[in-house]
Amino acid sequence: MQECDFCGRRAVYYQRTAGVHRCDRCFIENIEKRFRRTVSKNNLIEPDDRVIAAVSGGTDSLTNLHLLGKYAEYKDVEILSLTIDEGIEGYRDESIPIARKNSKKLGIEHVVVSFEEVFGKKLDELAKISQEKNGPDPCTLCGILRRSLLNQASRELKADKLATGHNLDDETQTIILNYVRGDIARLSRLGAKSKGKERFVPRIKPLREIKEKEIAIYAMLNDLGAHVDNCPYVGGMRSEVREFVNKMEKNHPTTKFKILRMFDKLKPHIPVEEEEFDLKNCKICGEPSTKKLCRSCELLKSLEIERKEKTLIS
Ligand SMILES: [Zn+2]
Ligand SMILES: [Zn+2]
Repeated sequence: MQECDFCGRRAVYYQRTAGVHRCDRCFIENIEKRFRRTVSKNNLIEPDDRVIAAVSGGTDSLTNLHLLGKYAEYKDVEILSLTIDEGIEGYRDESIPIARKNSKKLGIEHVVVSFEEVFGKKLDELAKISQEKNGPDPCTLCGILRRSLLNQASRELKADKLATGHNLDDETQTIILNYVRGDIARLSRLGAKSKGKERFVPRIKPLREIKEKEIAIYAMLNDLGAHVDNCPYVGGMRSEVREFVNKMEKNHPTTKFKILRMFDKLKPHIPVEEEEFDLKNCKICGEPSTKKLCRSCELLKSLEIERKEKTLIS
């Protein structure tokens, strides 16, 4: 039996980056400590904050919700959970009850906003229309629409922060991806906390220093019942980058941490071309936008789809 290096009980995980074995209890304790450290180091949550946890029902978002719920037990913060139901058959319909159940267990109010009620169509239908009209691929489509709904719903729910479950793997992949694409503007906007000016609710990433694998183990040990199926629409350049980063990490443990640390040190020195643009309100949905129509309404217009609901939270 492999013993825990801290208490001698049976080890469940070997943390290669630190070279230590941990039992279930010491593992959970370590994850919770690292979560709190990321929160305090980056000042992600302030006293009396109303924080919305974006919950898809997958491992990362459930773990994020769980850790936020535990954090709120002894800190003066209020947590709500929000699920965007994109309408992906066989994928999202299974994860919503899981999101609901976990919120309930933590005594957290759970809000669902669906593509269908807002746009009159599910993502599956939107994807088909987009394909016929040579529009963007399902991931791009989903990303733009989901992002705007998350922001609008969070604002309507009067949230101070919107917390997402991005982990160390996501974050390092995005860093490398922006390098590969040469997208310095996007790169400069990455980080633990977005600025969130005017009508944009600041986004926070409390899990960005925890590996995907560690989150999976934490979710399993805490019996969160996460929905593990991958989205049927996933693909593209990110999977190539994921493969590359994982290979580097395997041969050189701590690679992921180094990529993140390097970026965090570099970030204040990235020249940001902050164009002084005027933020207007989108003519259709009222979301902040640099143009007359926001990206999501422009996209819907190109697909000849009319938005049904303007206000999300009644
Ligand atoms: Zn132990
Ligand atoms: Zn709009």
